[in-house]
Amino acid sequence: MKILVVNCGSSSVKYTFFDVNGEKKLASGIVECIGLPEAYFKHRVSGEEEVKESCKVQNHMEAVDLILKNLIDPEIGLIKHTDEISAVGHRVVHGGDKFTDSVVVDANVMEGLKECIPIAPLHNPHHYAGIEAILKLLPDVKQVLVFDTAFHQTIPDFAYIYAIPYSLYEKYHIRRYGFHGTSHKYVAQRAAKLLGKPLKDTNLITCHLGNGCSITAIKSGKSIDTSMGFTPLEGLVMGTRSGDIDPAIIVHLLTHEKITADSLNSLLNKKSGLAGVSGISADMRTLLTASAEGNQKAKLAIEIYCYRIKKYIASYMGVLEGTDAVVFTAGVGENSPTIRSKSCQGLDSLGIKIDEEANRKVGSEDRTISSGDSGVRILVIPTNEELMIARETHRVLTNG
Ligand code: ADP
Repeated sequence: MKILVVNCGSSSVKYTFFDVNGEKKLASGIVECIGLPEAYFKHRVSGEEEVKESCKVQNHMEAVDLILKNLIDPEIGLIKHTDEISAVGHRVVHGGDKFTDSVVVDANVMEGLKECIPIAPLHNPHHYAGIEAILKLLPDVKQVLVFDTAFHQTIPDFAYIYAIPYSLYEKYHIRRYGFHGTSHKYVAQRAAKLLGKPLKDTNLITCHLGNGCSITAIKSGKSIDTSMGFTPLEGLVMGTRSGDIDPAIIVHLLTHEKITADSLNSLLNKKSGLAGVSGISADMRTLLTASAEGNQKAKLAIEIYCYRIKKYIASYMGVLEGTDAVVFTAGVGENSPTIRSKSCQGLDSLGIKIDEEANRKVGSEDRTISSGDSGVRILVIPTNEELMIARETHRVLTNG
């Protein structure tokens, strides 16, 4: 079964084409700068050179059309006809409280997705456009939606209800949803394998540290709390997002800065986090270099980032009442021994002891970086959200 995994953002469409039998990645690529005067695409068939070209792409329909044309192109493609695509799996950021699991697209699902747009205005309209494009271009191909929020639907109400008037939950569906669920679920499955335990008997704290960052408490294989909330703004310090702040700061800025709600939204989502504190960059590699060269703001940004992770790890240990492992994943989590080490520093009393030699080893495989006498294992597990979406698509279409 060959599955096309699609991730539609505001100005880009990423794709990965899998043969799920053997879980082989056949091709991948991206169309970027959709709607700008010059867009471009990158396309790579596994094992071959990447092709990169500029193009004109006005909207998501044209981007998806271009991707399909690349896949069947006699020179750069790998299939003869689009009927070799058995199914399409979409990454969807927000499923609200409507979608608790991956679903096959039909008219009801499209309606439900539309209803989620007010709580995910930055993401869901673009997913919707991508799904509509496939409906038009490949009308006979089944589509499955895999939601970032679905894995967190097991979080209990006392962890997802905010302590504001309950009527706001009823009126606007304001509650914690959590995101990055596909990644947390993927690394949780891998972690259980590495620990040699069934997932249903495994308690984990999974730290997804990419441009966006979130941390999840997983009890008996199920998400029971997570740091991102109503939107992906809450929780850990991120590249450009603030994470947790006192909500009174927002009121203060609205009063004293005469700032509009839109600008405030942009300040918290795009100008805060590592970029906001350091004033240099949202990129952790740049900050680690700047900090090593003595830049004090870069150093401070990293300290705040790691301190926040450490606080969440410690609090989730309390929530889990017994933790098998802490897992690091995504760009920073997989690649930065410094950040892993700083985030675990001083947690020895909770049974978290890193083995610095193992931590510093570079690798792309699942691995243990805790010392032999650490009560809690510390693991590094590369995430693979695209593969997880392909697996989910296959699962939903083959056994419901
Ligand atoms: P996204 O959330 O966009 O998928 P990634 O998971 O690719 O992002 O993570 C991007 C982050 O990972 C960036 O901050 C980048 O600097 C960081 N990163 C990548 N490699 C390293 C590295 N070797 N050391 C430290 N940070 C790294």
